Amino acid sequence: MQNHLQIYNTLSRTKEKFNPINKGMVGMYVCGPTVYSDVHLGNCRTFISFDLIYRYLLHLGFKVRYVRNITDAGHLEGDRDEGDDKFAKKAKLEQLEPMEIVQKYTLGFHDVMRAFNTLPPSIEPTATGHICEQIEMTKQIIDKGYAYIVDGTIYFDVEKYNKEFPYGLLTNRKLEELLEGTRELGGQDEKKGRLDFALWIKAKPEHIMRWQSPWGWGFPGWHIECSAMSSKYLGDTFDIHGGGMDLQATHHTNEIAQSQACNHKAPVNYWMHTNMLTVNGVRMSKSAGNGFLPDELFTGNHPLLEKGYSPMAVRFFMMQTHYRSTLDFSNEALQASEKGYARLMNAIKLLDTIKPSSTSTSNISELKVKCYEAMNDDFNAPILVANLFEGARIINSVNDGKETITESDLITLKTTMHAFVYDVLGLKSESSNTSKDKALQGVMEIILDIRKEIKAKKDFAASDKLRDDLAKNKITIKDTKEGTTWSIED
Ligand code: AMP
Ligand code: ZN
Repeated sequence: MQNHLQIYNTLSRTKEKFNPINKGMVGMYVCGPTVYSDVHLGNCRTFISFDLIYRYLLHLGFKVRYVRNITDAGHLEGDRDEGDDKFAKKAKLEQLEPMEIVQKYTLGFHDVMRAFNTLPPSIEPTATGHICEQIEMTKQIIDKGYAYIVDGTIYFDVEKYNKEFPYGLLTNRKLEELLEGTRELGGQDEKKGRLDFALWIKAKPEHIMRWQSPWGWGFPGWHIECSAMSSKYLGDTFDIHGGGMDLQATHHTNEIAQSQACNHKAPVNYWMHTNMLTVNGVRMSKSAGNGFLPDELFTGNHPLLEKGYSPMAVRFFMMQTHYRSTLDFSNEALQASEKGYARLMNAIKLLDTIKPSSTSTSNISELKVKCYEAMNDDFNAPILVANLFEGARIINSVNDGKETITESDLITLKTTMHAFVYDVLGLKSESSNTSKDKALQGVMEIILDIRKEIKAKKDFAASDKLRDDLAKNKITIKDTKEGTTWSIED
């Protein structure tokens, strides 16, 4: 199955067969959050998409070294090295140390990732923990002749680089086009070229997060951290690099330039980009004011929300759209996902109670193949979900006595449903763990025992009344040869 995986590569703009450099270990780097504020649901979409990708690679049997960084320094408000330092600004606002801001929002980010049942990365390096590596890489870029110093700040020379390597490779743009879309340099600009970006920035006297370097006190530019940390943990060329689409044009383009300038080889074989989560067609972002937080979503405490939605319903909502398509948030879509998620989980529960027959009315092996085909086609989770719904339909049909399944097909169906729902989609049962659900389970066992005794006394009117009363409360009980089962209507 490992041989059939196709990945859409932003660089070649085509789907390519996945051929890892080293069969023993796939290297994957994903740009992580900038921890100066809470992550919003849009950020979560990107991290959950890469969690799906990570999970599927693991499911296929690849060993994966998954590196997702924490940006905790060097991020100025403007994408082009201007504006205040985001951490320092927030620290002042909240009357905290910048590193207290970093700690607070890193912990919050981890809580959110856990709530969404994402697997932790293998390594989660921070920019502040890798200042030496960033200084070292900056030195190498200067030595190779692609950077220059202006009063303690080091700039990458894009036009010089572009003479040897195409700078706009990732977005398929020529330098001239990129220059047209960039504002002219002003009188106070120190850089030589409009597209030049800072590798190292001289700290102003009031700048708190600062480190000593060969060029004086300063701090790293944003892009160098990912180049330095990815090459440290994954090598000068590694398999997969990902992030949101909004990172392509600047951050990832600059990462390629830095690494290529340093090592004279392309850093990444497969560039993968997730599309944006939107609200009424507008990209969710902190600045647009439409970026609600996961906690607001779970509690329903936000003007855009009709009610709260559970983490697994939200995760399932995300799985129903391909990672390269935009996903528009709406209450209706989330409510549909809530129902779909419950339908899948109920079907999986029924798998433990349905009994095999001598023949199968559905082709279970074909269903299993279709699940793999969907995921092998650039991680097409919505097609996978459609196949899993077909699995749920078969399970319900067999349970209702309308279809039959053989023992070996039942085993295949069970392993397929478990593998794709739990391991690959990363869904988990939310209900069975709560104390209320455990209590309900206990109460239902008592009721079914009482009904058994009533039936043993041949008081069928009373046992039917009990069944009908439960049905009025949306609890269906079913008498089968093997005993009585119960389920709650969605
Ligand atoms: P940031 O913390 O702003 O650096 O963003 C973390 C990640 O979230 C990056 O990979 C962004 O591309 C991604 N991201 C930001 N906004 C959205 C959105 N609306 N939908 C999906 N991903 C997003
Ligand atoms: Zn990055």
